[in-house]
Amino acid sequence: MLDVTHVTKKYGKVTACDDVSFHLEPGSVTVLLGPNGAGKSTIMKSVIGFLKFEGRITVGGYPNKTVEARRLLGYIPEMPSLYPNLTVSEHMEFLARAYRLTGYSGRVDELFRRFELDDKRGKFGDELSKGMQQKLNICLGLLPEPGVILLDEPMIGLDPHAIKELKLIIEELRSRGRTMLVSTHIIDSVDMLWDRTLIMDHGAIRANVTRQELEGDGRTLEQLFFDVTEGHSPETPEEGAAE
Ligand code: ADP
Repeated sequence: MLDVTHVTKKYGKVTACDDVSFHLEPGSVTVLLGPNGAGKSTIMKSVIGFLKFEGRITVGGYPNKTVEARRLLGYIPEMPSLYPNLTVSEHMEFLARAYRLTGYSGRVDELFRRFELDDKRGKFGDELSKGMQQKLNICLGLLPEPGVILLDEPMIGLDPHAIKELKLIIEELRSRGRTMLVSTHIIDSVDMLWDRTLIMDHGAIRANVTRQELEGDGRTLEQLFFDVTEGHSPETPEEGAAE
């Protein structure tokens, strides 16, 4: 559904992504896990078409910057960018018009109820707390329900109720055949959610495993993460440490 092939992105002398390749299966959840600065946002922004890069990215077989690919892509950015002079409801209205959605009011009601924004409908973008801004950001990204949804660090700033709802919604979207790529640097935030995990560090994909492969391997995701990014698991004493 999404193919990233030999993608390299440099910001001046900094190589943020170095020959990155991966494939997302339709109707699956893939977690892009990596420490801060690993290159996760850069890959997301390359897929969505915000950045120029070397290599090839296709969505449903279409090059990522084509109209066909854009129709298939949704993006929930790490930093919400809301309009200070639009209310919460007007943001949803604005997005629905941009996507030419019809019959969406029930979906808006459901998202507002689930993310506890019902009583905030009349508030302006700049009157919302950071957490509420992030919730509206998520509602905006979920309203059109495109085929492939990129969620960049979506749990940051959310309260426990919103995190629970978002996880449930991700599972519901998967059961409706949507394909998702979720980036995070917090291992615990993704726990039972994923079908495949890509571990990224210093601009490269260091591990690409399915849940079954990891279970067969006998390691936890945390162990794999530290093996890959630091060369040892938390349980494995570092060389010389036992002496
Ligand atoms: P992550 O999302 O995993 O935290 P990023 O993709 O944001 O990582 O960053 C990867 C690398 O690229 C980092 O070294 C970061 O400092 C650098 N970088 C990101 N954006 C820019 C930019 N606009 N200009 C220069 N360097 C950048």
